[in-house]
Amino acid sequence: MNLYQHHWKDSTPVHLPLGKIVCVGRNYAEHAKELDNPVPSEPLLFIKPATSAVHVTRPLAFPANQGQVHFETELAVLIGKPLTSASASEAQAAILGYGLALDLTLRELQSQLKDKGHPWERAKAFDGACPLSPFVASDRLPGDHITFSLDINEQRQQSGDTRDMLFPVIPLLAHISSQFTLLPGDVVLTGTPKGVGPLLCGQTLTLQLEDELSVSTNVV
Ligand code: ZN
Repeated sequence: MNLYQHHWKDSTPVHLPLGKIVCVGRNYAEHAKELDNPVPSEPLLFIKPATSAVHVTRPLAFPANQGQVHFETELAVLIGKPLTSASASEAQAAILGYGLALDLTLRELQSQLKDKGHPWERAKAFDGACPLSPFVASDRLPGDHITFSLDINEQRQQSGDTRDMLFPVIPLLAHISSQFTLLPGDVVLTGTPKGVGPLLCGQTLTLQLEDELSVSTNVV
């Protein structure tokens, strides 16, 4: 059974259910380049189910015998109001908090599925595929300029800056809501900057969101 529940950084629960996790692929040009993917002209959306969410501080575990699992460190946006065909100002007002996520990906399986033109859910949606940090209230951070990072064994591995996004947070939320409704408690993952790579047993990962949040976890 999945016991995931959203939390604020002071450990109090966020009293909203996690319905779905909407992800955007290739939202940073440098990351698209490192995987030899073209830069998209509109957001490339996919969904991870609520059952993929786990608290990031829980030791990371993933499916055996399915090839490498890559980490992708992403800014996570917690939705606080329903959004359907939202304007920019409605999208802005619906942001309840920001956190960090690992969009874990079975990279070899994803490549096989992509080659066949098949959906890549199996590579992205497994139980535990979406470790999430606690959230920071949105009024603590400047929505148009947020930086975050991932260190592995105390070496900087990924650095993100929302100014490098191809589709910044507000237009991205408005676009998603033009395709399907976002509900309170849903989370939007906004894409990974460059520097993705395989998780290896024994690694310690530290995710940092501005000066607001720092969380660490281990790979088992
Ligand atoms: Zn991703």
